[in-house]
Order: sequence, then C-alpha cells, then structure tokens
Amino acid sequence: MTTSTQKNVVIIGGGSPALSITDASLICRARAGQPSALPAAYRVVLVEQNDFAIHLPALVRAVVLPGSENDKLTGRLTQGTVFPKGSRHRLICPAKVLALREGSVLLDTEFEGSCELPFERLVIATGATQAPPLRPAPGSTLEDYRELLRAVQADMGAAESILIVGGGAVGVEVAGELSHHYPGKKVTLVHSRPRLLLTSDSAPRKPGAEGFAYAPTPEWVGESLGEQLVARGVNVALGERVVFPTGTVTNKDEWDGRTGKLGRTQAIPLTSGDIVEADYIFASPGNAPNSALVATVDPKATSSGGHVLVDGEFRVQSDKPALARVYALGDVASNAGRKTAGLANYEAYYASRAIVAHVKAHEADREEKAPVYTAPDLRSIVVPLGDGTGENIGAGVLDLRWLGVWAAPRWIIRWFAKDYFVRHFHTLFKGSDEYR
Ligand SMILES: Cc1cc2nc3c(=O)[nH]c(=O)nc-3n(C[C@H](O)[C@H](O)[C@H](O)COP(=O)(O)OP(=O)(O)OC[C@H]3O[C@@H](n4cnc5c(N)ncnc54)[C@H](O)[C@@H]3O)c2cc1C
Repeated sequence: MTTSTQKNVVIIGGGSPALSITDASLICRARAGQPSALPAAYRVVLVEQNDFAIHLPALVRAVVLPGSENDKLTGRLTQGTVFPKGSRHRLICPAKVLALREGSVLLDTEFEGSCELPFERLVIATGATQAPPLRPAPGSTLEDYRELLRAVQADMGAAESILIVGGGAVGVEVAGELSHHYPGKKVTLVHSRPRLLLTSDSAPRKPGAEGFAYAPTPEWVGESLGEQLVARGVNVALGERVVFPTGTVTNKDEWDGRTGKLGRTQAIPLTSGDIVEADYIFASPGNAPNSALVATVDPKATSSGGHVLVDGEFRVQSDKPALARVYALGDVASNAGRKTAGLANYEAYYASRAIVAHVKAHEADREEKAPVYTAPDLRSIVVPLGDGTGENIGAGVLDLRWLGVWAAPRWIIRWFAKDYFVRHFHTLFKGSDEYR
C-alpha cells in the first residue's frame, strides 16, 4: 500500500468526463470550506493507461484528412497539464488498473511505492472498447497513435474504392468526410438496418428498464443523410450486411475477411448476393462498454448489454465488498441517453456532486444521500457530412424539450462541422503546462 495519508477518490480512465470530474469545481476547484469542496483530507487520483486524452468526435476527420491528426484533438496527460501547480490531486499516467479489490485497485505501475492503490471512493470511467483507429489501443502513446492516424489517412487517400461497414453516426460521418475531401473516390456505405443512424440501441427507453437505450433519432434525419450522401455520389446499401468468411480462406482470389488496406481490389459479398468492389474496408461496427473490471468481480453488476448498473447517485449496484463505494459514469455505465461526450460531461457534474455529498455524509457519520440524477433523454443529434461547406452539409435535430424537436439550422451544422468542437477541448486541461 502507498505511504500517503491522504484519502483517495480514484478515477479510472482519463476520457473527457473523468477530466471534467477532476476539474468539476465541486471536487477540485472549489475553495476549501465551500459546501461543494472535497474535504482537505481527500484527493483525486486519476489513472489513465494512455499518455494522452483524445477528443473522439473529431476522429472522423482525423482518419481521413492528412494533417488533421495535429489539430489539437489530442492532449498530453501529465500532472502539469491536468492539475494546477501545487494541487494535492494526482495523475498516474500511463498506468493501467488491472483489478478491483476491496478498498483498493491493482495497478500495473508503482505509485508512491506500491502497485496497490487504496481508495475511499472509486469512479469507473473506462468508456467503451472499439478497435483502432476509432479508439486508441490500450497503452498507446501519442506518437504511436498519430502514426496510426497518418497511416490510415494515407491508405484511404490512396484507395480507389472504399467500403464503409456500419451506418451509425460514425460510419455516416466518415462517408461524409471521404466524399467531401475526395469527391472522385468510389465510396460505398453498407448498413444492416433500413435507415441510416438506426442501430440496435435505437429503442425508446422504458422507465425502470434495466440498462439503457438511446432516445430514438427522428426517421427523417437518417433518410436525409442517406439522400445527401447519394447526391454526393456515395453508394448507400441499406438492409445489407457484409458476409464475412466463416472458415480459413484458401483461395487467394477470395477476400479473407480482413479490413483496412486490402492491397488490391477485391469482391466483398453482401447478404443480398450483391458484390462491392473495394481495396479498403473501414469497419465502424459500434462499440461495447468496457466493464470487464466490474464484471470480473460481479457479473450481476452489469446489464445484458454490458453496461455497469448504477443507481441515481451513480453507485454501482452490487453487494460485493470490492464494489462498495464504487461509482460509474460515461460510456461504461447504464444511465439513459446517447453515449456522447456531451452527456458524459453532464453526468460528471452530477456524479462529482454525489461523491462529495457522500464523502461529507460519511465523515459526519450521516446517511450517504445526494440529489438523484435523472438522465436528460434528449433526441438532439447533429451529423455533419464534411466541413460544412457546399450544399449537402449533413442533418440533425435539436431537442428543446417541451418546445419540441426541431431540425438543426444549417448554421448549427456548420458550427459543429468546422472542427467538431476541437476548439473547446483544451478547456478540459486545467494545469499550467501546454497540453499539446
Ligand atoms: C469516432 C467517435 C466519434 C464520436 N463522436 C461524438 C460526437 O460527435 N459527439 C459526442 O458528444 N460524442 C461523440 N462520441 C462519443 C464520445 O466520445 C464518448 O461518449 C465519450 O468519449 C465517453 O467518454 P468516457 O470517458 O466514458 O469513455 P472514453 O472517452 O472511451 O474514455 C475512457 C478512458 O478510460 C481509459 N481506460 C480504460 N480502461 C482503463 C484501465 N483499466 N486503466 C486505466 N485507464 C483505462 C481509456 O484509455 C480511455 O482513455 C464519439 C465517439 C467516437 C469513438
């Protein structure tokens, strides 16, 4: 165990909600004595396995456009970039949490003389798993990851015919970026559902249901995006799946199931019997909650979809001692609503309030209670197709609650399309050192 006498609020994962929590004035920035401040005996300890954080929304351009990997969409995680000088809070990075134990986590790296890090509270903010390049591989360095992005940009730039598998928001945006930046390139988007953006999670949420579901996107948004892509020359195949080979492929003329750069044009079969000719396959099959740390301790603490089950105060639902005083939020947790950076940051604000309230109640020997969080199950979504210039710039809706759901005006789509809000990413870094 470490030698520090401070009580730790450990956060696993340095995605944007975790950075928001470390910043949430409620936890780190409130002045001592304010009702929202964490007591002085407590500190935040943030553990992240990669040596950088990333603004994932901008990746759809960073995989296509050469040079965009340098557009401030990544930021180095160091004590000096994350926390102000003199802060008692700590960053352990790069370091991976290997296991949860009762009142401690096991690290793959020593911190203050031990790989066992004790906690008073633990926040699981481990996000989702997704194959690179859509998320960095665990343990990536910023240099490795930039190199990977450059390779993907070069391969897609050189490809004559690109097949995108998956017509959720990411697949659609990548098709938009490709058709915008490479107007002559042959691009095919294959989606298993009858409409773009419609995915397995697109079901209305039933109150009290286990797990979560997205607020459904109005049908016309997916339809409009499909029409705009077709107008750009993209071949959109709906209600189709790519047929991946089941066994070993011995015939060297047949596609062997690999994705990425194929090296030559190959015939890719679809369920209808149609064939797509492609020399590059971009797979965008969605993601899965990264909840293995919790499920290993208690499989019943995760939903059938793999999300960590939490109550209205973000506490993990389990009677296992290793999951006591443990919280979860963001992509890994079962809260309702789209799994977006915006909503995750919103959750971070409420989660930090709950944690501070629980800690204070614990210190005062009172019942641990905080205002119950209700997820805003909003339908807002904005899906740009390229950088916002030209005619077919994308589509979206704004959910104004009791005022209804309205088509997003073109200026909103352009505003987001400009850089996917990379320009705000730096605000998550509260240290004095340059974050890039
Ligand atoms: C391509 C793409 C486009 C997107 N576009 C949008 C968009 O336009 N708008 C929007 O709002 N949202 C968008 N999203 C979704 C948004 O990025 C996520 O909802 C958000 O990042 C969730 O944050 P998180 O912290 O829960 O997970 P993540 O951002 O995945 O962060 C989790 C972190 O935990 C770390 N970690 C995991 N396990 C461990 C461990 N054992 N030890 C240490 N560290 C660990 C990971 O390395 C990672 O840094 C997009 C996502 C992708 C992939």
